[in-house]
Amino acid sequence: MTRVAIALGSNLGDRLGNLRKALRLLKLKGINITGRSDIFETHPLGPQDQNRFLNACIIIDSLLSPQSLLILLKDIEKQTGRIHREKWGPREIDLDILLYDNDIINENDLTIPHPEFHKRSFVLLPLEQLTPYWIHPVIGITIRDLSEKLQDMDQTMVRIAQL
Ligand code: AMP
Repeated sequence: MTRVAIALGSNLGDRLGNLRKALRLLKLKGINITGRSDIFETHPLGPQDQNRFLNACIIIDSLLSPQSLLILLKDIEKQTGRIHREKWGPREIDLDILLYDNDIINENDLTIPHPEFHKRSFVLLPLEQLTPYWIHPVIGITIRDLSEKLQDMDQTMVRIAQL
């Protein structure tokens, strides 16, 4: 079993419903979800003329390889109603692999740890709720320390519900 951290985000349609549907689909596919963060409402990065996001993180125990997990997540994005749009644009659901045990992966379509997540408060805050002492395998410090070091912590993030 491998411990994996996944980020969820949605800023289109029934945002809360989209996050919960993605979780239901993961469970239906036999994924063992061992931790769920709170859900936070956050400002979008990139173009500002779009809805605020709902963001959360989960921890799973998985037997899938990183590539198989990526394929599964893309499939669940599609089933949750995601339509392909511009990068940085609005999305019904976004599922990203943040950490896969302590592995470092640099492939064309898959980078783990997910690039830049250590600079995003909308990822670090929910992840810190679940695994404050997981050490970022590239940077070599814990999620809690990354969160404390963050310069541009989004002060407007609002905790709205549990996932
Ligand atoms: P996005 O628009 O955020 O859904 O990202 C789209 C692409 O990012 C996917 O098609 C993946 O191939 C690629 N990608 C690279 N690294 C990751 C990762 N760690 N988790 C999820 N997607 C990734």
